[in-house]
Amino acid sequence: MPELPEVETVVRGLQNTVVGESIIDLEVPWEKALVADDPYESIVGKSITGIRRRAKYIIIDLDQGALLVHLRMTGKLTPVAPEKHVTVMLHFETGNTLYFQDTRKFGRMEYVNNPMEKLAHLGPEPLADDFTPEVFYKMLRSKNRQIKPLLLDQTFLAGLGNIYVDEALFQAGIQPLSIAASIPKRQSMSLHAAIQSILSASIKAQGTTILNFSHGENESGTYQAALQVYGRKDEPCLVCETPITKITVGQRGTHFCSSCQSLFKAKR
Ligand SMILES: [Zn+2]
Repeated sequence: MPELPEVETVVRGLQNTVVGESIIDLEVPWEKALVADDPYESIVGKSITGIRRRAKYIIIDLDQGALLVHLRMTGKLTPVAPEKHVTVMLHFETGNTLYFQDTRKFGRMEYVNNPMEKLAHLGPEPLADDFTPEVFYKMLRSKNRQIKPLLLDQTFLAGLGNIYVDEALFQAGIQPLSIAASIPKRQSMSLHAAIQSILSASIKAQGTTILNFSHGENESGTYQAALQVYGRKDEPCLVCETPITKITVGQRGTHFCSSCQSLFKAKR
């Protein structure tokens, strides 16, 4: 499943190819993929003025309104014609086309008048300037929930997914079942730093290729080489050699080192 770094990689890749294009036609081979009251009326005739990311959403700004894209499991946006599984095509005046390709077909493209209003429920961006260690510590203090599902909750913090949460908790030395409000300030600071450094490193490496994430012309991300706990069940911890534990938390596979990561229990 594409996470924040993968979505950011897609956005950066498309910045040079689709911004400035005028949409002269659209095709929707998989109808459910495009959500709009009147797709043709809303989209055709508009120009793309920008492309950006909010959480795991791609916002394609039009001169009026925007297309909000969520890739979900297997969605891809590419200017290169895929062989199959195309769900939406935007045809441009220049003769270029933007393809939404999606093998499992859970991805959606939605026309909205005001994208920020539509995404107002999302928590802060983990790489934004105003997401400081102090802000994060205050956010954790107010939550009597397990840290792993809390970090996956997009209304709490936007853009983190399963892989990066496991990696960040490992780096910060926090066991995934810890109660957020019980995490001491020092570990909270470490977790903030880990989230930012992992996301930045992964954006630099152009994402993590697990399952079938790819961007642009089927290039793969390289961050998976740096994963320290995710997908390493029973393999030795890279710090202490204790076998990595895998448990299920909120239906998600969760990896951690039982020796390096401390459990902060609910305070009585
Ligand atoms: Zn360890």
